[in-house]
Amino acid sequence: MPSRRNPSRPPRVRLHSRLAALLPRDVRGARMSRLTDVDIDVVVAGGGPAGSTTARRLAQLGHSVTLVERRTFPRPHIGESLSPGVWVHFATLGITERIASAGFRLSSTTLLRWRGETERIVSDKPSLIVDRALFDALMLDAARDAGVEIVFGISIPRARFFVDATGRANFSRRKRRFTAPRVIAWHTRWQGEDFPDETVVERCGDSWMWGTKLPDGTFSTLAFGNPSLKFNFLASPIAPPHAFDATPYVCDSPIDATSAAVGEAAFAIDPISSSGVQAAIGSGITAAIAIHTILERPSNAEAAIRFYTSHVQRVSSQHMKWTTDAYSGEPDSNELPNIANDAIVATNRDAQVIAPTIRGDFVELEPAIRTASGRDVAYLGGTPLAPLIASLPARTPAHAIVDQWSNTIPRPHATAVLSWLVAEGVMHVV
Ligand SMILES: Cc1cc2nc3c(=O)[nH]c(=O)nc-3n(C[C@H](O)[C@H](O)[C@H](O)COP(=O)(O)OP(=O)(O)OC[C@H]3O[C@@H](n4cnc5c(N)ncnc54)[C@H](O)[C@@H]3O)c2cc1C
Repeated sequence: MPSRRNPSRPPRVRLHSRLAALLPRDVRGARMSRLTDVDIDVVVAGGGPAGSTTARRLAQLGHSVTLVERRTFPRPHIGESLSPGVWVHFATLGITERIASAGFRLSSTTLLRWRGETERIVSDKPSLIVDRALFDALMLDAARDAGVEIVFGISIPRARFFVDATGRANFSRRKRRFTAPRVIAWHTRWQGEDFPDETVVERCGDSWMWGTKLPDGTFSTLAFGNPSLKFNFLASPIAPPHAFDATPYVCDSPIDATSAAVGEAAFAIDPISSSGVQAAIGSGITAAIAIHTILERPSNAEAAIRFYTSHVQRVSSQHMKWTTDAYSGEPDSNELPNIANDAIVATNRDAQVIAPTIRGDFVELEPAIRTASGRDVAYLGGTPLAPLIASLPARTPAHAIVDQWSNTIPRPHATAVLSWLVAEGVMHVV
């Protein structure tokens, strides 16, 4: 779709800077916007990973997009260890090559000191250790290359749709709900020589520490909850520790017909999973589809709003469960059950619903199934679930179900789908 940016748009009118200074900080940009008259589809406030992602995707979908970032880039940011799932998002955004050649560091090994025991965990999918100043600048460049206009400042121009990507700053003052007790993190960087190559995670009482070597050889550490913790090597801090609020939260209404919040403007997860950036980029990709639908197919706007809202709620609640398991030392409870061949399986017919799902570049309403936890799922591994359920008698032996489904999908996948549906409470063994 060609960009609809109006080439002959009028010049912006700015409030006199001293007059603007009299306004409260958080409304200066908003007040200014009333005096500007620009023809923009989407304006994004905030140039972190979520803002750059949303802006790039919307520009790729043919929208005119302006991104306003209040700080000059490159600027430092915490959150340097990116979970392996980010690579899928980089592929979606078409930036894998740029990231791979940026000189960041891969880390496959974590030294975990938890409950008095030391364990060396080697992962087959390495984390990506980045300098966030460079990483965020690279993401912003990728948005610019897709046609996004980048503006450094605080004046937010008027647009058909507003995206709040200002992180914890919460520019649009959306209501947030804490999902865990308050957590404070102390961050600092160290220079020295004996830093381990492994990422180090260490628990002490109710507090824990995390540390990793950055691409430039300095060591970045975070102490959560208890500032008296320290690592066992000789080094000197480059700067005194900075305190950050690391409390997880979620916004229950992250989108409406004219605005949305993405990344940490919509939800924050516990840093123990090191997947805040992955979640922020994922929310930007999903929000872009929802916003594109609202702007281009208004008849589907309600479905798009429902879809993005449930995405935010699901990611937030999944992380809450993972972190609760991690802190309590419980094993990952995501294993699928083995269903005996001759087991009789009953299907919950009420689980069939019509729900919003992504179809190409739009959100559409499609047949789906509702899990016991209330999540609507249309596809599993590319397989539409509702037709599989619809074709079954109320009670059937497991082997007959797998036989029937194997006519349309590979047998191992049919077995996995059955286990998943039982685990999710859509079907049960009687
Ligand atoms: C202690 C701690 C440790 C963490 N460690 C990790 C980790 O190891 N790995 C990981 O993946 N995640 C980690 N995270 C989370 C991660 O940092 C965030 O999830 C991620 O940065 C969110 O991206 P974002 O784009 O939503 O927000 P941000 O990255 O915060 O970007 C927001 C941007 O908006 C700009 N802005 C703010 N107000 C305005 C305004 N009014 N106008 C214009 N621009 C504005 C800011 O300058 C900033 O550039 C950690 C978080 C904390 C608190």
